[in-house]
Amino acid sequence: MDADVTPHYLSSVWTHLTRTPMVHGSGCWLTDVHGERWLDLTSGIGVLNTGHCHPKVVAAIRDQANQLVFSQINCGVPLVTSALSERLHEITPASINRFFLANSGAEATEAAIKLAKHATGRPNVVVLQGSFHGRTHLAMAMTTSKKVYRQGYQPLPAGIFVTPFPDPRLFEGDEDRAVGWATCQFSDLLASQTDPSETAAFIVEPVLGEGGYKRVPTAFLRAVREICRTHGILFIADEVQSGFGRTGTLFCFEQADIDPDVIVMAKGLGSGMPISAVGASDDLMQRWIPGTHGGTYGGGNALAMASARATIDVIVEEHLCDRARQMGAYLVSALQHRTGEHPGVADVRGLGLMVAIEFEAANGMTATAKAAAVQQALLQARILVLTCGTYGHVLRLIPPLIVTQEELDLALEVIVHALESIH
Ligand code: PLP
Repeated sequence: MDADVTPHYLSSVWTHLTRTPMVHGSGCWLTDVHGERWLDLTSGIGVLNTGHCHPKVVAAIRDQANQLVFSQINCGVPLVTSALSERLHEITPASINRFFLANSGAEATEAAIKLAKHATGRPNVVVLQGSFHGRTHLAMAMTTSKKVYRQGYQPLPAGIFVTPFPDPRLFEGDEDRAVGWATCQFSDLLASQTDPSETAAFIVEPVLGEGGYKRVPTAFLRAVREICRTHGILFIADEVQSGFGRTGTLFCFEQADIDPDVIVMAKGLGSGMPISAVGASDDLMQRWIPGTHGGTYGGGNALAMASARATIDVIVEEHLCDRARQMGAYLVSALQHRTGEHPGVADVRGLGLMVAIEFEAANGMTATAKAAAVQQALLQARILVLTCGTYGHVLRLIPPLIVTQEELDLALEVIVHALESIH
């Protein structure tokens, strides 16, 4: 292959942090075609919780490839798919005992809604303002994190209702008041726009991802969960980004001590292999009319199934949830200490290794420009980080859960230096 090859023939719809072709990955590091190393603090947008090419994951894929690569699930169920579903049952609440498999997060959020429609016989869905659930048409309609994901594609599928996020900042930092207000707004929505008898599901990311790394207050999750239970509305946890140890527990909803009716998983499940899953009770799955949903690849790609099984084992055996908590606490406290007082830094926050620096306008520079400048400084130092938030004003640090303190310090120094020079 030509070492200078650039992605000329790829669609221009993708934006790229860097166009430099990558040829190798190990742990938190990517190596490009020129032999330069890049510190990947994006985890490929929350996919590589076990790091690039974890040896146990690679071995599982290699072993599987020697036996069976694909068996279409409608034609012959791969053994490894059944084994994975059993493993998923072991790591989810006991009530979640049936799993539908697909390839991407968007496919899984859409599947969860189709399941909810059949299981309840109701047409509508409620989403939280600022959420991201994917980029296929229904998922786009459920996504309100940023206009770019919807612009030019309207009209989108109908039947999606948006309830406000309980943001304490609207109430001088008072979380209780924010939760009380947002819970009333949710009830008002059911009284004024979509009657419970027409509402199939409420879908929520326990921490808004693309929407700005904002944790949904526990009291709100619990209050809405109870309202849903009262009305037979299914509570769907979208754990696509927050799952598989990312926030310090296997799933983030565990920290709120709630029991979702449906769990949506993807990203960190496969360590880079395309796989997603929808978990629900046998009772709900039985109401999903056979043959009305599926796809060629879902559950049939044995390599993805083997990768997911190995990924779960690595997360459990290497105590990556604990590690996410420890490294996340270190990173948040170091960032707060070194950058918290800086003009333009509005907030430093994190749950496990879902860490954010939120910017605000200062010294004639917009919050968006500040976030972009720090991102660029990191890029110059060959450190990959992403932004998020409605205005792209939040820098997000989402490293593999195996990241070391020394690796985090490399980014920390660049961030501090960048803030001093763009001040
Ligand atoms: N749900 C959440 C919470 C996500 O963060 C994402 C992707 O970022 C999706 C759904 C969509 O996943 P995918 O990009 O695999 O379709």
